Amino acid sequence: MSDQQADVLDVIEGLMQESRTFPPPPEFQARALVRDRSLYDEAAKDFEEFWARLAGELIDWFTPPTKRLEWDPPHCTWFADGELNVSYNCLDRHVQQGHGDQVAYHWVGEPANETRDVSFAELLEETGRIANGLKALGVKRGDRVGIYMGMVPELPAAMLACARIGAPHVVVFGGFSSESLAERLQSAGAKILITQDEGWRKGGKVPLKADADEAVAGSPSVERVVVLQRTGGDIPWNAQRDVWWHELVADVPAECEPARMNAEDTLFLLHTSGTTAKPKAPQHATGGYLLHAAVTHRLIFDIHEDTVWWCAADIGWVTGHSYIVYGPLANRTTGLLYEGDPAYPDWDRHWELVERYGVTTYYTAPTLIRSFVKMGPAYPGRHDLSSLRLLGTVGEPINPEAWLWYWKVIGQERCPIVDTWWQTETGAILISPLPGVTTLKPGSATVPLPGIEVDIVDERGTPVPPGSGGFLVITRPWPGMFRTLWDDDERYVETYFGEYGRGVYVTGDGAKQDSDGYFWLMGRIDDVINVAGHRLSTTEIESALVEHPAVAEAAATGAHDPQRGQRIVCFVLLKAGQTHTPELSGDLREFVAEKIGKIARPAAVLFGDDLPKTRSGKIMRRLLKDIAEGHDLGDTTTLRDADVVEELKRQADEAFGRTAS
Ligand code: AMP
Repeated sequence: MSDQQADVLDVIEGLMQESRTFPPPPEFQARALVRDRSLYDEAAKDFEEFWARLAGELIDWFTPPTKRLEWDPPHCTWFADGELNVSYNCLDRHVQQGHGDQVAYHWVGEPANETRDVSFAELLEETGRIANGLKALGVKRGDRVGIYMGMVPELPAAMLACARIGAPHVVVFGGFSSESLAERLQSAGAKILITQDEGWRKGGKVPLKADADEAVAGSPSVERVVVLQRTGGDIPWNAQRDVWWHELVADVPAECEPARMNAEDTLFLLHTSGTTAKPKAPQHATGGYLLHAAVTHRLIFDIHEDTVWWCAADIGWVTGHSYIVYGPLANRTTGLLYEGDPAYPDWDRHWELVERYGVTTYYTAPTLIRSFVKMGPAYPGRHDLSSLRLLGTVGEPINPEAWLWYWKVIGQERCPIVDTWWQTETGAILISPLPGVTTLKPGSATVPLPGIEVDIVDERGTPVPPGSGGFLVITRPWPGMFRTLWDDDERYVETYFGEYGRGVYVTGDGAKQDSDGYFWLMGRIDDVINVAGHRLSTTEIESALVEHPAVAEAAATGAHDPQRGQRIVCFVLLKAGQTHTPELSGDLREFVAEKIGKIARPAAVLFGDDLPKTRSGKIMRRLLKDIAEGHDLGDTTTLRDADVVEELKRQADEAFGRTAS
């Protein structure tokens, strides 16, 4: 046994012997922003007043709101007569108060020795220029602007520029395929796309502009493409349509008046997967979202003047929107922005950066923590991590082993860990510890934040007693709540408020509450797969597969994966005359990756003469999961063809190196 394995087993052993709880460490608590339960009490008395007080304290309004929540279930508004500008709140006011020189982002490129510190004043200047550039290209208030970039400082500048002129942005994760990008641009009716020549990832170049070109070819609404020069590589160019970022900003002034936006104006759309093939575009409002992002960032991550913040997500996901861009900038926080892969050039990259920049507060996903566990403690052991004060996780349930490893090896038994539960739709965190107050239990996101009310219910919507599993619902509105789905309010109402009445938001997650009132999230209960913290829809994957000429029918399921939370396993029925070969399996995996993005590449494709269906022809989804996970299948006599299942199980066991049972 290697030292690494021994260490991990040690941790697991410890877990099994005791179900420890972790009260706030006294040194942490002594300087924590929140040290007692008064915020919970205040919010319990009058949650609208609670949010209104914070809106007055944390946000600069051009016109302060007199209204608070208006709730016409399932639609809400917050602060609906207030006027503000998000980029003003994130930039101008800090510069005006004399903090222009403070670093907003320590940017670190993936290639060795590429770094750049961007101050609040510089970010304001770049934002103003690109905002004026967008105006010069004809972007008006309300127009949607697509953004498809890597992790460079110009990405937050582009988002802030959109916010400055009131043009909702639609950021698409740079790892998505051109087809996924096209779908998102089209569904949002984006007028402009901002991209870059290429990005860096794992030492290689990602052809963002070439992919963007393909996407734009299928997105007639996109009139112009703005291209940031990042690598300087050769790229295709359309002189009528494309414009270089550096040329666009060279010809315009840096000053751009921030638009007076209504609190309910749309700040951005951000697509996410649901249970159908078509991604949904939750629509977020300006005032409530900014407030929710800023409050949660400040209080959960205990932000001080000397905080060095690092949210290691990608800005293409909601975590990056709320906790790399809007929350931290509104709170005038100095943060780290890293372009590349955590394993490039080696697995200690993050720890080297923590040491170099004195990172105090580090926020990442359990899937990455599990990779760190697997790689062993030698990597963090190479670096001085004593600057760290607080750790966080998001995206999926964290297994207690990984939690304890994070606590012990990274936090050195000194740093509270905040396990934060939320979704693209919720805009910002809803269930999380407050680290100076909450006693932690590894694996639980603990309790709802002040002002947030949730419940766990059964199929009929009746609350279940502690200890029983059920569906997590949110029973009253919160400021960062998405207001609707872009261009599809009917889907908004039916998907999220169709189950238990118009006032109850259905999260799609299963959960359990223990006798102390702590929430334990159990993952999705709908047809959504969570791979490495990212939501993917089974239908989306199935639709991609049946587009392949060899495929007649397909089904996809999420199976437990020790590293990535879940892995995608696909079941395929081939068209007559097609034979299944390992090459075809490889082709199909690649096909899905190209259609949707690498994140959606199936771990295995299994072939059957039929899919596991009941005699009435319905795919038995539960059985797909059991096959993929290697469970005992029990009675299969209700199936149309029981032999098919045996063959699929054999292939699954072979694919995942299990001894067939
Ligand atoms: P997304 O909208 O893509 O950010 O995904 C949100 C989903 O991720 C939630 O519905 C949960 O299933 C999962 N999730 C996010 N954070 C947590 C967490 N701290 N614990 C458990 N599951 C989480």
